Amino acid sequence: MARKEFVVFGLGRFGKSVATTLAEGGCEVMVVDNDEDKIHEIADYVTYAVRADVTEAESLESLGLRNFDGAVIAIGENLEASVMVTILVKELGVPYVLAKAQNELHAKVLKKVGADMVVFPEKETGIRIANNLMMGNFFDAIELSSTSSMMELDILQEWIGHSLRELNLRAKNKINVIGIKRDDQLNINPDADMPLERNDVLVIIGKNEILNKLANQ
Ligand code: ATP
Repeated sequence: MARKEFVVFGLGRFGKSVATTLAEGGCEVMVVDNDEDKIHEIADYVTYAVRADVTEAESLESLGLRNFDGAVIAIGENLEASVMVTILVKELGVPYVLAKAQNELHAKVLKKVGADMVVFPEKETGIRIANNLMMGNFFDAIELSSTSSMMELDILQEWIGHSLRELNLRAKNKINVIGIKRDDQLNINPDADMPLERNDVLVIIGKNEILNKLANQ
C-alpha cells in the first residue's frame, strides 16, 4: 500500500508534534513554515521541509499539494494565514483538511471556507486530561467523545448468574454491553440469555459519569 502523504502548515508546538508523529508512523510528510530556523530544526525528521509564506498563493501552488491525502493547518495566531491556506488547499483539491482554531469565531470561519475538521488542541487536551483524572479507576477506558467512553468492567457481584436480558443494563444502568470477555476470549455477540459468570468482564459503552460510578462500585 502506498504511504500516506500529509502536509503540515505551521511548526508551532501542535504542528511540530503532528508532523513528527506522522513521520514516525511511516507517512510522507511535508512541512511548511516561513521561519527558517523551524524549517532547519525539523528537516531531518520529515520528508520535505519548505520555507514559504502561506499567504502567497503562488508559493503554495508550486508545492504540488494536489496529491496529498490530507493537510493540517497548524497556524493559530495568524488568522489571515490560517484562513488563506485552508481556502487554497481546498481549492487545490486536498481531500481532508484539518485546521487548528484559536477561538469559536476562528473555527466558524475555517468551517465556512471548507475545513473538514476544526480542532482546539489545548481545550481538547484539557478535557481529556480532566476526564482521565476523574476516571482514574477505569480499566482500559477508550474515550469516544468528551462525554462517553468504552471500557472493560469486571461484573458486579449481584450480576453473577443472571443473563444480560434479565439484567436489562441498557434501561437500568444506561450502559450498552458490546461484548463479554471470558477466559481471555472476547465474544462480541453474546447470547442475551447466557448467565454471567464470576470472572466475566463486560465491554461497555456509556457516559463517563455512569462508567465512573460502576467502576468504583
Ligand atoms: P502552538 O500553540 O501550537 O505552539 P501557535 O498557535 O502559538 O502554536 P502560531 O503563532 O499560530 O503558533 O504559529 C505556528 C507557526 O506558523 C509558526 O511556526 C509560524 O512561523 C508559522 N506561520 C505563521 N504565519 C505564517 C505564514 N504566513 N506562512 C507560513 N508560516 C506561518
